[in-house]
Amino acid sequence: MIEKIKQTFAVANMNCREASVLLANVDELELSRWHRFGLWAHLLVCGTCRQFRDQMRFLKQLVASAPTELLDLGFSRSTRLSTQCASRIKALLREEASKQ
Ligand SMILES: [Zn+2]
Repeated sequence: MIEKIKQTFAVANMNCREASVLLANVDELELSRWHRFGLWAHLLVCGTCRQFRDQMRFLKQLVASAPTELLDLGFSRSTRLSTQCASRIKALLREEASKQ
């Protein structure tokens, strides 16, 4: 029970580094309700991360509309993380939450 309270408190006090990792990979990570809440709360108070979120959205739109010539050069329209990379990020977030 204490551990759950600690994890919940840690998520609610998310820092910019944690928020930026989540924002960069929000489509792939299937965030828990608490992580979504923590990210939402962080974005309410952090203009830098809101700007980063907007930049990530812009970049994803740019990649999605990339010219076909770039695809011929091996460029991919996909901005998804590999499953292995998403798992590593989730494990790091859990580890960070358990430290606090
Ligand atoms: Zn921030």
